Amino acid sequence: MLHIHYSSAFISLCLVFILFFSSCSLGEEAGFEKIGFSMGSAISSRIYAENEAEANSLSEEIFAAIGELDSLISATDENSEISALNAEGEFFLSEEAGEIIRKSLDICEKSNGRLNIALGAVTKLWGFSTDLPSLPDEKELKSALGKSKLENILIDGSFISLKNGAQIDLGAVGKGAGADEAERVLQKYSCSAVISFGGTVLLHGKKPGKENWVIGVRDPFGSQNDYIATLSFSGGQEAVFISTSGSYEKTFTENGKVYHHIIDPETGFPVQTELVSVTAVSNSGLIADALSTALFAEGLTNRALELANEYSAGAVFIFEDGRIYVSGQIKDCFEITNTNKYTLMSDEEIIC
Ligand code: ADP
Ligand code: MG
Repeated sequence: MLHIHYSSAFISLCLVFILFFSSCSLGEEAGFEKIGFSMGSAISSRIYAENEAEANSLSEEIFAAIGELDSLISATDENSEISALNAEGEFFLSEEAGEIIRKSLDICEKSNGRLNIALGAVTKLWGFSTDLPSLPDEKELKSALGKSKLENILIDGSFISLKNGAQIDLGAVGKGAGADEAERVLQKYSCSAVISFGGTVLLHGKKPGKENWVIGVRDPFGSQNDYIATLSFSGGQEAVFISTSGSYEKTFTENGKVYHHIIDPETGFPVQTELVSVTAVSNSGLIADALSTALFAEGLTNRALELANEYSAGAVFIFEDGRIYVSGQIKDCFEITNTNKYTLMSDEEIIC
C-alpha cells in the first residue's frame, strides 16, 4: 500500500493515514510495513526497526496479540467469551475481556448512554457486520431496543450477567482495545511504530528524523486516500491513538434512503445528524475508539466536549456542509488542507 505521490510518499490507512513528506528519506525513515487481518479489519504496521527481520517479528507479535484478544471478544467467533456470554446470559470473563467491558461501561455511563455496548440485539437486526445489512422489521426492532438497556449488564467481579435478553456488542471499542494490545507489545521494544487498525491509528515513539508524525484526516466524501486536514504530533514517551467514526463507513440504501452503522440508542435507528465524522485523540486506544462513536452519537454539544475533556481527549467534528470544530486540546495540531470546502467553526457555533 505504499504510494509515491509526487515527491512525497504516504501509507494509506483505513480512515486516516500518515503522510511522509518529501523531506524524509525513504530508506532511513520509512520503516518496514506489514499487513495483517483481525476483527474483520486490515491491520497495517509500520515498524522503524534496524532491519526487516526484526520489524517482521515485531509485527507478527503484534498481530498475534490482537488475534488473541479477538478470540476473547469477537462477536462472530462462537467460541469467544463474548459469544458465550451472549448465548448463556452469564459468564466468568477473563481479566482482559472483563477490563474492556468495565472501561467501556464507564464511557457508556459518562456519555449518558450515547455509547451503549448493550445494543447487540439491535445491531444484529441491522446486520452491518454482515454482507447484507437491511432495514429491520419495526416490531422486531422495538423488541430488540427494549432488551438493550445498559442497566441490563450486571458485573460482580469477573462474573457478568445479562438481564432481559440483552446482548453485548463491542464493535465500537474492540479495534481500539486491539490497538492497546499493539502498544503493550511495542512497549517491550525500543523502535518507533505506526499501527493502523480499522479506523484507529497508534503512534508509538517519535518519528525518526526531525519531523513530526502527520496524520491525514480523511475526506468524508472522497476515496480512502483523500484527506482534507492534518493532525501533527511530536510523539514520545506516551502513545497517541487517533480514532475516527464516520457515517460514510458502512452504509446501505433502501427505498432511496441511506442508512449508516452508528445507532442512536434511543431510537434504534442510525443517528440522525449533520455530522459526517468524528475523530478522537487519546492516550488509550479503547478510549479513542469509544469516544469517536460516543461523540458522533451525541453530536457537537457542550456535553460532548465535556465528555472528551473528562478523558483528556481531543476531538474533531466534521459536518456535511464543510464546517469543522476542533476541541481545544488538539487545536494547535490541526490544520485544514482543503480550504475550498472546509472551514473552522468558532466556539459560539456549538449547538448547546
Ligand atoms: P467502526 O466499527 O467502523 O470502527 P465505530 O467504532 O464507530 O466504527 O463503531 C461502530 C460499531 O459499533 C457498529 O458497527 C456497531 O457494531 C456498534 N455500535 C453502533 N452504534 C453504537 C452505539 N451507539 N454505541 C455502541 N456501539 C454502537
Ligand atoms: Mg468506535
